[in-house]
Amino acid sequence: MVEEQTPPPRILVVDDDREIRARLAEALSRAGYLVSDLADGEAALEGIKRLRPDCIILDIMMPRLDGYWVCRALKADAATAAIPVLLLTALSRTEDLLQGLGAGAEDFIRKPFELPELLARVAAQLRVKQRHDAIAKERSDLAALLEVSQAVSSTLRSRDIFQIIVRETARIVSSARCSLVLLADEPSSAYVLASHEDPGVDHLKIELVKYPEVQEAVRTKAPVLIDNVHTHALLAPVRDQMGRLPITSLYVLPIVLGNQVIGTLFLRTAKALRLHSPRELKLCQVIAGLASTALQNAYSYETLKLNVAHLEQLTLLDDLTGLPNRRFLRKRLQEEFTRAQRHRHPLACVLYDLDNFKQVDDQLGHACGDEVLQQVAQLLRTSVRTSDVVARYGGEEFLVLLPMTDEPAAHGEARRICQAIAAHPMTGAARGIRLTVSAGVGVYPGPDVRTAEDLLEQTDRALCRAKAAPKGQAALASPAPSP
Ligand SMILES: [Mg+2]
Repeated sequence: MVEEQTPPPRILVVDDDREIRARLAEALSRAGYLVSDLADGEAALEGIKRLRPDCIILDIMMPRLDGYWVCRALKADAATAAIPVLLLTALSRTEDLLQGLGAGAEDFIRKPFELPELLARVAAQLRVKQRHDAIAKERSDLAALLEVSQAVSSTLRSRDIFQIIVRETARIVSSARCSLVLLADEPSSAYVLASHEDPGVDHLKIELVKYPEVQEAVRTKAPVLIDNVHTHALLAPVRDQMGRLPITSLYVLPIVLGNQVIGTLFLRTAKALRLHSPRELKLCQVIAGLASTALQNAYSYETLKLNVAHLEQLTLLDDLTGLPNRRFLRKRLQEEFTRAQRHRHPLACVLYDLDNFKQVDDQLGHACGDEVLQQVAQLLRTSVRTSDVVARYGGEEFLVLLPMTDEPAAHGEARRICQAIAAHPMTGAARGIRLTVSAGVGVYPGPDVRTAEDLLEQTDRALCRAKAAPKGQAALASPAPSP
């Protein structure tokens, strides 16, 4: 297998003098460049887009189109304007030189020329060209990144956002095919949500056994870089079935949410990956991070739709507070739990209990107690995210389900709400009353949490711990490990 290398720069020599062409071609080839040569200006304008030279040595005095004319034409075309032109001439008057520079040429070499000087001037122009190319690439990369981040925070449909993600990633890593993959419920399969080379792809199911590189990225939670698909040991079991695509290397980036891998960005490129810049690969990691947000948003939207569908059944609402009741909650918990398992997302559950509520109810009357419950319900409703589910769980107990939320985030959220309720001055029939709530936090995945019931039990245990501590606190089921 022939290893692919970055090709040396290509120099195009345009001169009607066959002897000069031969001499230059020989010297430039010896200096390590690829050389093409053409005998006149017309041929140069015709051949330049095919040859894509990195530098042009252009004679001025040629029949039909002279060097000035050709130079102006090259500089007027955006596709060729950045290629440095060295004018080569026997003319020695200052006005000729000025005319050449006026036509946009980068430099000037007088005939008869000394080869070392000519080579040094070519090398200098190539350095400038390289810097120019690097800056142009950087601008294009940043434009791609901007496009993805704008798309992720836009109101576009998820499918369109996914398509922009794969398209722009392919733009950054040139000659790449890019797909966005979401892990499925069972660990053996996944879905291709979008594919840069085939915009028709939508939730195409794949068996992961055929993609050991994706499995490896999921297992290690780290990018997998395979420089040569023909020799890498990881692909040995599937090499026969890999098809005939012109693929040399693979790059799989895990898309991580919290601590879980939920999908991957999957790049296949014709060029060996080590020939791509570290910057390109770093940008892909940034896009993988943005893709995580896009997947999360799509998921929240799905939650919202489920909530609306269920709320249409009014029998599932609590009369006093207008919140969903315990029956609704059990149903939604089961759905969220199944979804969290399937997509390997975290799911948090916080149970709030009003402290000393019985005293309020007994001493100040039921009207006052009801008022307190209504105001706490309202505070909870306005404090949570749209994708969270709030329900009245029992007498003075409220439960909040937080999809895609891990333990530290849920604990922080519970503490924030406990403080907000403690700081809230009751109004109406409960005017002047100050109340605290205690909260228990349960999280999937967690030790001993295998079912939705387990999650509720863990949350209940956490609330017992909170109640045993000073009032108004949020607790986990077991003490948080010390840092
Ligand atoms: Mg000539």
